[in-house]
Amino acid sequence: MFLAIDDTDSPNKMCTTFILTEIIHDAGLDIIGMPRLVRLNPTIPFKTRGNASLAVQLGKGVGEKKKIGSILGKEIFSYDSGQESMDESDLMDIAEKVIYRYADLDYEGTNPGIVASKKAFDPAFYWKTVREVSKIDEAESFVMRNGGRFRKIKNGRGIIGAAAAIAWPRNTVTYELLFYSDDKGHQIPRDLKFGLSQKAETIPGTFNNIDHENRHAAIFPDQSTPVLMGIRSVIVEGFLDNVLKLDGISDIHYSRFMLYETNQASDDHIIENSTHFEDFHSYRIDGIISITPYSINGSHYFSEMVSDGKRIKIAAFEPTKEFRKVFRQLRPMDIVSVYGSIKNGTLNVEKMQVKTVSKIYERKAPVCSSCSVRTVNKGLNDYRCPICGKKVDIPSYELIKREISPGLYDVPVSARRHLSKPFSLLDRSPRTGDAF
Ligand code: ATP
Repeated sequence: MFLAIDDTDSPNKMCTTFILTEIIHDAGLDIIGMPRLVRLNPTIPFKTRGNASLAVQLGKGVGEKKKIGSILGKEIFSYDSGQESMDESDLMDIAEKVIYRYADLDYEGTNPGIVASKKAFDPAFYWKTVREVSKIDEAESFVMRNGGRFRKIKNGRGIIGAAAAIAWPRNTVTYELLFYSDDKGHQIPRDLKFGLSQKAETIPGTFNNIDHENRHAAIFPDQSTPVLMGIRSVIVEGFLDNVLKLDGISDIHYSRFMLYETNQASDDHIIENSTHFEDFHSYRIDGIISITPYSINGSHYFSEMVSDGKRIKIAAFEPTKEFRKVFRQLRPMDIVSVYGSIKNGTLNVEKMQVKTVSKIYERKAPVCSSCSVRTVNKGLNDYRCPICGKKVDIPSYELIKREISPGLYDVPVSARRHLSKPFSLLDRSPRTGDAF
């Protein structure tokens, strides 16, 4: 039985992934496959943080099992396959009780949804929800049409994400290992955070652990949440063991951990080859830069490109830090592919391929052919050699050295989106298909 939940947390309280661990604990069932942490359209205004939704397949495990977690001292295993062992409404009762116990229901934007289904859903709803905007009634009819059941708390918007998590086709799979504390206000010293991020970076397959340039330990959340630490990997074999062996890991005093399969770093949110561009959608746009970048307050940089006859405003905002140094070197006629989401009519660049850089010539006073010194401009088409006085009437045009070259440019780790696949991962592509 698939059980999925979404929209249980607020910016100051809880995390939906923690609530899922509690449901797994209370249900006392086996996990078939791995719990899913599915990121959805990153531009959705209702999101609290990273627009995550959660699903897990629960039942009576059959076949081989592997350890994937620990909840309050109890080891959690993943089974290759399983049989049904609880009906939808009993499982949803358990989920509902846990949500009422932990969710931040006083917060206006918290609108939990629970979805249960005996089978995976049609992937069409995942693609719609990761790339576009879905409605609550659309999710309701989709779940019913596909033989599932749902429960809504408050306006129940969470059923959108929950249904999408069951519909995720696992086309590109990466992994995240999350560690939690049951102890509110638990603090981890800065040095320990930085040290663990550096050590995590040495584990094969892990990514987005640390931002050296900005001294950012990216595996630790910035906000208040029961999540202590999250490490991501494109490789599952040995991942959990390698993390648990990290020197200093027990110093973060975790009370639970869980390994999830995810759609992170998949670029699933990116729409390619589109000819029209709208807010709340993310695209790859191929085109030609049409204006020299300019800045606002020296912190946000803007430019424009033309693609298929359409002008698109593009931006590198302050959080993209050193990426802006590359962005501001763009010049008209450079050929690029940019990736990012459109908000207020502007595409926020999250990575960029510079395909060709244009040749830019600067008009200069010519060099005297007799004395090899640069002439002096005396007026329109009148250049004079300061040594022999010879007159030259044609200026020279000299190629300017460009400060950017063709290549792949990522934003720094601290500015990366969960769904965005860094170019630096291209040579370590996430595997497609089964997690194990
Ligand atoms: P966290 O990452 O901390 O768990 P969050 O950022 O996932 O929080 P939620 O509190 O889950 O944010 O809120 C996101 C809400 O947006 C959910 O109700 C989800 O169902 C809904 N949602 C997600 N994707 C879409 C979409 N494409 N269209 C409409 N609603 C969506």
